[in-house]
Amino acid sequence: MHNVSHVCFACRRVMRRPAHEVQVAPCSSCGGPAERIGDRVPVPPRDNLRAWAAFEESWREVQEERASERLRRQVRTRHAIEHRIADLMARDGDPKGREVELRMLRRRLAGEFPGTEAPGN
Ligand SMILES: [Zn+2]
Repeated sequence: MHNVSHVCFACRRVMRRPAHEVQVAPCSSCGGPAERIGDRVPVPPRDNLRAWAAFEESWREVQEERASERLRRQVRTRHAIEHRIADLMARDGDPKGREVELRMLRRRLAGEFPGTEAPGN
């Protein structure tokens, strides 16, 4: 089984967890959140407090950047779907041929972004 590193910033400990497990696992020492860092991130020695502070700070920055990139991607996808729906609905002629795609797009919109109303419904 493939294991990856999780890190607890409170304890400054690294633990190995199966790769298929969740992003945040309980720390085996304090029970707090141990975040998955994968295998390629170098971890400072446990007694180097200064290095750990810097490590945690840069880790947080990377996580925030990833989260906002994810959000930007979702917004872009959503806009692309909304444009396509508007485009299909604005066309002249028999709408029958477009119904399947419209239904699919609306379903995608509802599935990817739960709690939002698909336009044109
Ligand atoms: Zn811990």
